[in-house]
Amino acid sequence: MGAVLIWAQAQKGARSPPRGCLGSRGDRALRASERDAGQCTYVDGHGRRCSARTLLEYHHIEPYALGGPSTFENVCLRCATHNQLEAEEQFGASFMAQKRLFA
Ligand SMILES: [Zn+2]
Repeated sequence: MGAVLIWAQAQKGARSPPRGCLGSRGDRALRASERDAGQCTYVDGHGRRCSARTLLEYHHIEPYALGGPSTFENVCLRCATHNQLEAEEQFGASFMAQKRLFA
């Protein structure tokens, strides 16, 4: 839902988009992976960027569930933990827990 959408591959996957990623717009996904240097783009309150380079997902800055497009400009890499964190902040922890039960 929203921010949580597509599993990316580990390190080597950051250089080639996951199959089926962003529909037929894999080139945009590849550009986003390259732009983000194959690393989670989450930055904490102290300005430190997350160092995760595995189990990355494409995060929709404007949530997909709220109409956000799957465009180069609207997606960035997030590790599963930070993608989930942002989804919970956006939609609520209980809502996301329910979604995981039925996923
Ligand atoms: Zn992260």
